[in-house]
Amino acid sequence: MVGQEVKRIGVLGGTFDPVHLGHIHLALDALKEMDLDRVIFIPAWLQPFKQDRDTASGRDRLAMIDAAIEGLEGLESSSIELDAEGVSYTYLTMRELRKKYGEDCRIYFITGTDAFLKIETWRNAGELLTSCGYLVGTRPGYRQKELEECMERVSRIYGTEVRNLHNDRFDISSTEVRDRLESGEPCGDLIPEKVERYIRENGLYK
Ligand code: NAP
Repeated sequence: MVGQEVKRIGVLGGTFDPVHLGHIHLALDALKEMDLDRVIFIPAWLQPFKQDRDTASGRDRLAMIDAAIEGLEGLESSSIELDAEGVSYTYLTMRELRKKYGEDCRIYFITGTDAFLKIETWRNAGELLTSCGYLVGTRPGYRQKELEECMERVSRIYGTEVRNLHNDRFDISSTEVRDRLESGEPCGDLIPEKVERYIRENGLYK
């Protein structure tokens, strides 16, 4: 977006092993509902809470994201965490994004409910919760009371702006996608066709 000032960006961090339609719709819902200029998918090199897991390579996970978002206006990817090649602590990524986009840019980190409810246990939570706003994808009634309490607490303690997205969550997980792929079942209802093709052509998740 050369020559155009970025004012409001969403960041969707994840393992994306692989990226699926639930992730894509979460990003599109955030983009629209919050009137963001763009949403950036950032695959983790090593998700701090999943350090013992085998995943597809970072480059394959990024390539699948790029295939999934091709032609979708407002969605982008970044290799910032892959390039760093260390444990992907979100507060470090936020520091880098702040340097890149400047103090005037409003940055929102986008998560699902389960991920957000653990955020106070993430590395440098205080810095993280003051460095950006949060958009939380919800499901009606799902962990609602816990979520409300967590939102109230972080906004009281850290002054964090947290908003629920009124998205229609697709009931899909990367685990389900991998399970189906491993057993040779079709998964065109879970991932974009271009991602399915990439997986097939590169022999992933066998
Ligand atoms: P993931 O499983 O690939 O999912 C990415 C995001 O999409 C998560 O927020 C997840 O939230 C959400 N999601 C998954 N399925 C969805 C669906 N069907 N509909 C709507 N939303 C859906 O990513 P992850 O491994 O949880 O990692 C998330 C981010 O948290 C990464 O950037 C990671 O580095 C960061 N993190 C940082 C720390 C730290 O700094 N210490 C610790 C842990 C994680 P739900 O899981 O709630 O659905």
